[in-house]
Amino acid sequence: MKQGIHPAYHQATVTCNCGNTFTTGSTKEDIHVEICSKCHPFFTGQQKNAAARGRIEKFNKKYGIK
Ligand SMILES: [Zn+2]
Repeated sequence: MKQGIHPAYHQATVTCNCGNTFTTGSTKEDIHVEICSKCHPFFTGQQKNAAARGRIEKFNKKYGIK
């Protein structure tokens, strides 16, 4: 590759809302996702639970509900 025109490409740690972490190649060092291959309804079959969890947590955090 040509020097100086490409962003740095390195291993990124991806953190999911379900607590799962994995590494991937990216130009960012840390990535936070709401859904991953471990908790995505397509892979788990727990469609309703997984779909609602991220939004509920976000709502509770916003309004200080534990
Ligand atoms: Zn996940």
